[in-house]
Amino acid sequence: RAKAAGRGRWACYDADLNAAQVARYALVEALPDAVQRGEFSLLYQPLVSLSSGRACGVEALLRWDHPDRGTLSPDSFIDLAEETGIISAIGTWVLREACRQGARWWRRFPERSFYVSVNVATAQTYDPALVGDVLSILDESGLPPTLLQLELTESAMLSSAGEPVEALRALAAAGIRIAIDDFGTGYSNLAYLRTLPVAGLKLARQFTDGLGRPVDTHIVKTLIELAHVLDLAVTAEGVETPDQLSQLKGMNCDVVQGWHLSMPLPADEMSAVLENGG
Ligand code: C2E
Ligand code: MG
Ligand code: MG
Ligand code: MG
Repeated sequence: RAKAAGRGRWACYDADLNAAQVARYALVEALPDAVQRGEFSLLYQPLVSLSSGRACGVEALLRWDHPDRGTLSPDSFIDLAEETGIISAIGTWVLREACRQGARWWRRFPERSFYVSVNVATAQTYDPALVGDVLSILDESGLPPTLLQLELTESAMLSSAGEPVEALRALAAAGIRIAIDDFGTGYSNLAYLRTLPVAGLKLARQFTDGLGRPVDTHIVKTLIELAHVLDLAVTAEGVETPDQLSQLKGMNCDVVQGWHLSMPLPADEMSAVLENGG
């Protein structure tokens, strides 16, 4: 209540802020029922292996098809969902949907070891139900645990609380791959990562954007080399140009993702890509 009053006072001085807050509250109100109303959907963006030139997996990306506001990107509501505790319900929906779809692709193309990568919000790693939920969703979907990758950000890894790291260890022990999302945007400590059951890094888009500038290029090259010393696979995010792609190839990057390779696709379009050998 005090918080709301405080925000109200702010709004007296700034009409735009007020409008933004009204919109925020409207989203918070609509979120809890949005799952039941079936307003969420997933797009799948190919993760392309540089050794084979083919998709080795997909990242599942959440969309909220809001009745009035059109399709919303998670950047506009995930933080709200985390603050209000709705993230667990949304996260469970995402995992179930992604694992079901992943299992379809696995049954259709068992020889490809095609994996599905799912984003997990830091708040979810504090949920004591997370590990059990993930394991039962895998079980009910039939997707092998080795074909599920979970993307966590550095904030979950570097938390001083024990829960996130314990959850991580349990998930990795079940055979699930753990990757660090947006690597390099937080407090990156590669030496500490060595002590965690992490299989890969997703280099933040800012690094890909920096390719072409000599110092940034050197940093990316060095990060990839160091990751390989630590036995971590590297995925570069936000690859938008042929030049970025060829530079990353030259640096022995493992996997690339971005608009130059493919936009995020609905499941049926992704299936068509796989049918065509892509
Ligand atoms: P992220 O996990 O780092 O995902 C990559 C984002 O970059 C996606 O934005 C993707 O659409 C976008 N992208 C892909 N290729 C390119 C490119 O070449 N250039 C540029 N500029 N962008 C590209 P999106 O789908 O809007 O998702 C934003 C963020 O929301 C994600 O960032 C992730 O942190 C979060 N998110 C997405 N889905 C979920 C989910 O199911 N659960 C949770 N907790 N978070 C999610
Ligand atoms: Mg991600
Ligand atoms: Mg990312
Ligand atoms: Mg992100």
